[in-house]
Amino acid sequence: MSHAQHRLGTWIGWGFFADLASALALTFGYMFSRPVTMQYPDQEKWLPYPRYRGHHYLNRDETGEIKCVACELCAKICPCDCIEVVPYEDENGKRHPIKFEIDTARCLFCGLCEDACPADAIALGQQYEFSSFSSGDLVIGRDDLLTKPHKAVTGGGVVAARLNTKKDVLVETKETQGYNWWRNIRRT
Ligand code: SF4
Ligand code: SF4
Repeated sequence: MSHAQHRLGTWIGWGFFADLASALALTFGYMFSRPVTMQYPDQEKWLPYPRYRGHHYLNRDETGEIKCVACELCAKICPCDCIEVVPYEDENGKRHPIKFEIDTARCLFCGLCEDACPADAIALGQQYEFSSFSSGDLVIGRDDLLTKPHKAVTGGGVVAARLNTKKDVLVETKETQGYNWWRNIRRT
């Protein structure tokens, strides 16, 4: 082996060693950092960001009246045809929905219904825990939609939580702010 070949071999060896040292540094860095596995749903819960599109809800106006004027625009624009609105007129000639149902089993949570609504009546909120063994349970009516959680004000963190199996596998949380899980993962 010539001297030049020997030097080249030495530099390649050092290159591999530097690569190995960098990988080991990353491994040890993760070994001694906070675990990123979320203990959901027993001990921890993810708070969605305000922009998250979860379960729909219907808004009321300042007098407590449902804002929806039953124009059916949301039903028309829905690509899944999963909204059903049946209008009626009250004694003052105002339109409201006598029936307003969303089949959340078919919904793809695109948010088009929220965008199309001229009355700021429908929106997609922060709730994401509504799975069921029966698709019939996922058809949600007007009165239930009026009680669903609205959009998160803050969010994007992990908080301590407690599983409550007596309430249909819901998670109760006592905190509103949590630690930044993404920052831990991305190591920024
Ligand atoms: S989010 Fe999209 S798919 Fe779901 S009900 Fe609204 S328009 Fe339809
Ligand atoms: S929720 Fe909005 S778009 Fe849908 S029927 Fe009511 S007012 Fe119209």
